[in-house]
Amino acid sequence: MGRFATASLEQKLIAFRRQLHENPEQSHEEFETTAAIRGWLIEAGIRIVSEYPLETGVIAEVGGLQDGPIIAVRADIDALPIQEETGLSFASRVSGKMHACGHDFHTAAILGAALLLKKREQELKGTVRFLFQPAEEKAKGAIQVIRSGVLAGVSAIFGLHNKPDLPVGTIGIKAGPIMASADGFIVEIEGRGSHAAIPEAGIDPIVVSAHVITALQSVVSRNVGSLDSAVVSVTRLNSGNSWNVIPDKAEFEGTLRTFDERVRAVVRDRFEQIVVGVSSAFGAKAKVHWNDGPPPVINDSEWAARATLVASSVGLDPIEPAPSAAGEDFAFYLQETPGLFVFFGTSGPAEWHHPAFDVDEKALPLAADFFAALSVDALNQLNARP
Ligand SMILES: [Zn+2]
Ligand SMILES: [Zn+2]
Repeated sequence: MGRFATASLEQKLIAFRRQLHENPEQSHEEFETTAAIRGWLIEAGIRIVSEYPLETGVIAEVGGLQDGPIIAVRADIDALPIQEETGLSFASRVSGKMHACGHDFHTAAILGAALLLKKREQELKGTVRFLFQPAEEKAKGAIQVIRSGVLAGVSAIFGLHNKPDLPVGTIGIKAGPIMASADGFIVEIEGRGSHAAIPEAGIDPIVVSAHVITALQSVVSRNVGSLDSAVVSVTRLNSGNSWNVIPDKAEFEGTLRTFDERVRAVVRDRFEQIVVGVSSAFGAKAKVHWNDGPPPVINDSEWAARATLVASSVGLDPIEPAPSAAGEDFAFYLQETPGLFVFFGTSGPAEWHHPAFDVDEKALPLAADFFAALSVDALNQLNARP
């Protein structure tokens, strides 16, 4: 198939990305980002579909000149509450906000694919629907977009995340799980306060928390099989405010990650049993509050195989990446329709959500090429299905 993106398209995509990078907006506040994307689409003559009720984010379509299936390609558009420390000439102009997850890269790359496909619209055997999705970082945007009805009639969906530790020119394609479920928990331990010198009169929630948190370390080591994996991390613990008072309450929070819904259910179950059981052994009461995050991102194996061929055809080097224990709300789309989420090599100097995060912009036209070629191929494949 070969490369499609021209030097002038590359310059355009770099300019898009830098404009977004300079003007980061957090989840559900992506109003200027939305306006910018709309402007670029309109300029390219790409139709914006306004029937889906979204306050931020844009849905657009290319194709449909020939009857055929609909596929969707998704880019997330939001930024993070991080103070940028890259020193780039186009660094964030907004204090305390930064595109530190590279969603500016995703947006520009998928815009690039839309622009390339617009030029080949006559050939498209169906429709490519572009989802510029808000609020990925809050894991809320995908659900909103799905509720707007945008997946109706969609046969396959594709998306990407940049990957700083993969070199430019490589693409990480993996059948099955590629990113983790990401649940949050807050645990409240209720004991009984007392004088620090008279502990027998109270139930010390600090001692109880210490035992509970220690016991939680056995959830993964003793309940998850050796070929499965999970992470349980306690990231905050609060209790008390004085040296001579045993407090009546303690609270801790953290996160739970898995790559399999079955493992996720087992781990959540064991977690609750340990928290409640250990607390009650000490005479304390415990409550677990879950903040349900996205499920694991599970890729379709047939689309993974097709994408590997397409990647090679546009000169990319497909590799099988290690899954990431980070969460990604693209998982919700894959619960509705089969598809594929890939990692795109961007040779970054720092990991996601780091103040020094950056991407190598040479990857931009490569990503645009790949998603244009994958869209053409996916429509052809779907048309060939009985
Ligand atoms: Zn992120
Ligand atoms: Zn991200």
